Amino acid sequence: MKITETIAAISSSAGNSGIGIIRISGDEAIEVADRVFKSHKNIRLKDVDSHTVHYGHIVDGDKIIDQVLVIVLKNPHSYTGEDTVEIDCHGGMLILKKVLELVLKNGAKAAEPGEFTKRAFLNGKLDLSQAEAVMDLINSKNNFALDSSINQLRGNISEEIKELRSSIIYHIAFIESALDDPEHISLDGYEDEINEMLNDNILRIKKMIKSFDNGKIMKEGVKTVILGKPNAGKSSLLNLMLGEERAIVTDIEGTTRDTLEENINLGGISLKIIDTAGIRNTDDKVEQIGVNKAKDMAKDADLIIFVADGSKELDDNDRDIINIIEDKPAIILINKSDINTVIDIDALKESSKRDVILFSAKEGHGIDVLEDKIEKMFYSGKVTYNDQIYITNARHKEALDNAYDSLCRVKESVDAGMPEDFYSIDLMDAYESLGLIIGESVEDDLVNEIFSKFCMGK
Ligand code: GDP
Repeated sequence: MKITETIAAISSSAGNSGIGIIRISGDEAIEVADRVFKSHKNIRLKDVDSHTVHYGHIVDGDKIIDQVLVIVLKNPHSYTGEDTVEIDCHGGMLILKKVLELVLKNGAKAAEPGEFTKRAFLNGKLDLSQAEAVMDLINSKNNFALDSSINQLRGNISEEIKELRSSIIYHIAFIESALDDPEHISLDGYEDEINEMLNDNILRIKKMIKSFDNGKIMKEGVKTVILGKPNAGKSSLLNLMLGEERAIVTDIEGTTRDTLEENINLGGISLKIIDTAGIRNTDDKVEQIGVNKAKDMAKDADLIIFVADGSKELDDNDRDIINIIEDKPAIILINKSDINTVIDIDALKESSKRDVILFSAKEGHGIDVLEDKIEKMFYSGKVTYNDQIYITNARHKEALDNAYDSLCRVKESVDAGMPEDFYSIDLMDAYESLGLIIGESVEDDLVNEIFSKFCMGK
């Protein structure tokens, strides 16, 4: 598809800043820029080399709007692959809007959200998963998410997908050729060969699918639920964690009156901490409601921190909570260790099979150990995030699920001794599903849908 229209947008963030950028891209980008830019050396941008910077003014007739630097990037060596001009203005929103209006008046069209990246995709500068990574990169809330998006942008998902696809297409082609020309191409012993490919590919796809949950954790934060009886010290713990960690991202009142959600950043991991702070009534019935509510919240928690009041013996409510956390990643804090600890820590460790930390929310004792534990739980063993491919995108996950199912069906056909032409349909399905991830054989609608999610100016 050849795009000729020239688009422009404010590409820096909304709000006042030191510098703001207007980006113009398309066949007439340089001409449009020449109409509004007056170089202090009287140079015309159409005469300059690519990748050069020029000082001057943005002018509306005789009127100077701003003093700027202009960067010229000629096709195909720009982000979009088209002629591109970036105008570095002073950052005030009013100036940026004025310059943009002027650029639009002089022949450019206002860009749709994500249109620059869409063009980069359509011009072959990025594949679809890389284009989506650009969007994720802009929206990254923590180091994990940032690393994962950068890896995706570098193309490590694309490479893996391309390898999988090329091994599948090889077999599709081989089967077709063998069926067409049985005299020269034999299918004897082929079963072992295709099984080897299937086993390898199924394993690789499964690994990527599994990474989706970890990936989601990286992007949305580890859903951490604080459980404990009223007065055990849950709110004190939350306050302590918030106080310890200054990088508070958001502060959202929960949807229900008695639930509080806070985001904190712990060594690059974003935690979404959920506290049932409002349940404070000591009336037994209300306590029961609290426990029921806690059960619900615990169900989809990624991590549970159980705060027990160590100055009192464990009671039935505590034991209820210990049951709730049975099959969940959990850490137990024996709080109020500054007063008196009557709970038998070793026995609790033994019976709960969980890490138990002697803690004092009041004095901050044990907070380092707790933070260390949480970090270790998510950075350790299976969650190494530097080189591993993480699937963070639901669309990719769905495509991988489909490819996985298709390859499993091929395996079933092989195991059942079905004739080879049976394999081809499912192999082709797997090939196409994987293609969706990198935007090959992708429908126009899907492309439009993906790019409409972008922010303006990108
Ligand atoms: P929640 O109902 O579980 O949220 O408990 P709070 O955090 O509101 O604490 C209940 C009471 O216990 C408050 O009076 C706190 O000051 C007190 N408290 C919390 N943690 C500690 C602690 O580590 N040591 C002592 N001595 N008191 C604590």
